[in-house]
Amino acid sequence: MTPDTVTLDRTHIWHPFTQEATAPDPIPIARAKGAVLYTEDKREIIDLISSWWVNLHGHGHPRIAEAIAHQARTLEQVIFAGFTHRPAADLASRIAALLPDPLTRAFFSDNGSTAVEVALKLAYQYWRNRGDHHRKRFLAMEGGYHGDTFGAMSAGVGSHFFTPYEDLFFTVDTLPYPASWIGDDAVAEKESACLAALERYLDAHGTEVAAFIIEPLIQGAGGMRMLRPSFLAALVDRLRAAGVLVIFDEVMTGFGRTGGLFACLTAETTPDLICLSKGITGGFLALSATFCTERIYEAFLSEGFDTAFLHGHSFTANPLGCAAGLASLDLLLDDQCRRARTRIEARHRARLEELAAVPGLVRPRICGTVGAIDIEAGDGGYTAAIGPKLKAFFAERGLLIRPLGNVIYLLPPYCVTDDQLDRAWDAVAEAAETLI
Ligand SMILES: *Cc1c(COP(=O)(O)O)cnc(C)c1O
Repeated sequence: MTPDTVTLDRTHIWHPFTQEATAPDPIPIARAKGAVLYTEDKREIIDLISSWWVNLHGHGHPRIAEAIAHQARTLEQVIFAGFTHRPAADLASRIAALLPDPLTRAFFSDNGSTAVEVALKLAYQYWRNRGDHHRKRFLAMEGGYHGDTFGAMSAGVGSHFFTPYEDLFFTVDTLPYPASWIGDDAVAEKESACLAALERYLDAHGTEVAAFIIEPLIQGAGGMRMLRPSFLAALVDRLRAAGVLVIFDEVMTGFGRTGGLFACLTAETTPDLICLSKGITGGFLALSATFCTERIYEAFLSEGFDTAFLHGHSFTANPLGCAAGLASLDLLLDDQCRRARTRIEARHRARLEELAAVPGLVRPRICGTVGAIDIEAGDGGYTAAIGPKLKAFFAERGLLIRPLGNVIYLLPPYCVTDDQLDRAWDAVAEAAETLI
């Protein structure tokens, strides 16, 4: 008899971000539709975190599935050095048309971490190509997360997820992060402290910084920590005035999560480089793109190979991913999707206002389709003891909610119904009443 999925899994597989010694058995999923996952034993689980923030329009969306199937029969993959194809050209030009004007040029790769690596490397080489050999440092935010490869981990030094590797990191300095929430009366003070720290930093190191990187408006893995849009715009203005290149890591915030299509549009501010992945294919396939300005692109042009960007991945601009991306964009730009995002935000707002009155639930916050609240029970942070208990509590109720330590958040696919959201927020209230 063939062993079951979990037995085979436990014999041969090692899961991401998991302590395999203590984690419960993984749940085998047979299929998924809309916001619902169906287990092999036919239970239903509502996916309230978009399967790690990638899914936009629901699982198994027929428009995207058909676009991929059609593309697979036409051109599944082709080397992207010296060759190109229609899906990549269309996707780059259509996304460029949605981004702020200066962001015209796309470099494709295949996941969020590599999109960040590309941005860091482009920023670093940009200065070298221009003959400026002083700009070698990077600046980031305390608590920021940018992926798990070495450059991305270095940029995410302020997340403290990567202590075993810190000796190998390059120099990344961090600014304090003025996280804010509904009813936060110290926000102006925290923002001024951050801007003052930036002034001191620029006085000391302003001409040594290659680039600044930030997750605009929401720090995801760091605990769904939110910034006021006006502050983000002020920070970017100051850095650009100092000549520092600004990188927006919109791997999570892109494609409608923050309400507007991109966080840079929501906050009305423009970076020099932007990293996109996760939702770019609607959550169907691994694809990413780093967009930059024409000024950066031009700094790599010369008669010699030495100023070129010597970087690429086997599946750069994979046609299947690009086809999925185009189908997903059509759905995203449909007015029905915009209305769904507005509805989700309104539901989060109504429910979080109630939940903030439940003892133990604090710091309610909303940015577009992302709603979060902290539970106060013992220690905080990503390794808070309450985290696994909450996850199990929600799993028992058929809800995929994966708290970041003591931070509970919903980041649902845009097809989620009000009823599904209510079931989730009801369970959050129940968890606070039962577990603390
Ligand atoms: C998830 C994430 C990444 C890394 O993306 P992967 O596809 O997991 O490598 C980078 N930056 C942000 C902001 C993310 O949320």
